[in-house]
Amino acid sequence: MKAPHASFPVSRRKFIGQISAAAAAMTLAPRILRADGSGANKKLGIALCGLGSYATNQLAPAIRRSANWKLTGVVTGDQDKGHKWARRHDFPDRNIFAYDTMAGLADRPEIDVVYVVTPNGLHAEHVIAAAKAGKHVITEKPMATSTADCDAMIAVCKGAGVRLMVGYRLHYEPHMIEFCRMARERTFGPFMKMEGTNGFDMGDPDPADYGWRVNKRLAGGGPLMDMGVYVIQAVCMATAEVAPVAVTASFGKVTRPALFSQVEQSINWTMEFADGAVGTCRAMYDSQESQFRADADKGWAKIEYPAFYYDTPMLVTSQGPVNRPTVNHQLAQLDAMAAEIRTGRPSLAPGEMGRRDITITDAIYAAAASGQRTAVMS
Ligand code: NAD
Repeated sequence: MKAPHASFPVSRRKFIGQISAAAAAMTLAPRILRADGSGANKKLGIALCGLGSYATNQLAPAIRRSANWKLTGVVTGDQDKGHKWARRHDFPDRNIFAYDTMAGLADRPEIDVVYVVTPNGLHAEHVIAAAKAGKHVITEKPMATSTADCDAMIAVCKGAGVRLMVGYRLHYEPHMIEFCRMARERTFGPFMKMEGTNGFDMGDPDPADYGWRVNKRLAGGGPLMDMGVYVIQAVCMATAEVAPVAVTASFGKVTRPALFSQVEQSINWTMEFADGAVGTCRAMYDSQESQFRADADKGWAKIEYPAFYYDTPMLVTSQGPVNRPTVNHQLAQLDAMAAEIRTGRPSLAPGEMGRRDITITDAIYAAAASGQRTAVMS
């Protein structure tokens, strides 16, 4: 066993430092006061940007159930759909925006936050438009498709004095919060060996139904960007948010070349940490897998299938099963983010964390293309 994470505190300090700096900036931001300006019990107004599957089936129902949020607008390419949403959620038609009219959000004080749920390659454009209109922003994962886009998103949000958060729902899920605590407090010693997979079988759809997930420009990549991000997150949770120093990677076999002509069908990678910890990971669009395990000197923790889906993660450790309350992931995330905004406290999933993960995906793709061990740029 090599030295524990504590022996190499620099990258951790650097990451925490970035988050603290972001938090300090956010604490000073006047927008935070405005969001809560009408009293602690006021529901925060939220506009969904992109009305696809996740917005419709997960986020909108969670917003309806929440005591902290009210859907007060939408951004959509389909105005008819916007009218239906306005009627269903009881907000005025003037709060239906198109992607190219988002500047108008600036005149809607009843919209405090914009939640960007469009394809990955469009997150940067939509986050920046929302921030320029003075709104706090939550963006879905992955944060963007390049580190340069992440930098631009963070800079614009900072300049506008608004928050930037990533929809990393598992950071707000009680079992994963407990897993993070075990990692931070080294209940079993530092986790040194992590293994995780996440994916689903896309089947072999009709070419007309291929969709943006297999389009390189819109998705930024294949299952690594969509499902692998959860494994990257879990490995970083296991190291108490230390970033890896290097990665190796290889693309999996392509058995459906028509479907996977632009993005990978599956990908294997490792994440190496300065203290010798290693994560061995896999993400795929050709098999239903989702599990995670972390080993330390004095014990282990695993999250059984389906580790990263919407179900309650089954966290088991060498001491036995861990039972925490079952929550709706999206509701837990949204309610916690409302509290973060109201109090001005740092987010558990700030833009800086989303950016860290894109530096890792960038390195993984570079490693898979070159066949070389590749350093992760900070
Ligand atoms: P989706 O295809 O169902 O919805 C995408 C939406 O974006 C649609 O309303 C579509 O009309 C709109 N859109 C705007 N411009 C578009 C364009 N040029 N091409 C295609 N669509 C365009 O996708 P989804 O599953 O809702 O995913 C949306 C985002 O949410 C993605 O970033 C995805 O990674 C993320 N997501 C997160 C979770 C989670 O658990 N956190 C789960 C699912 C999806």
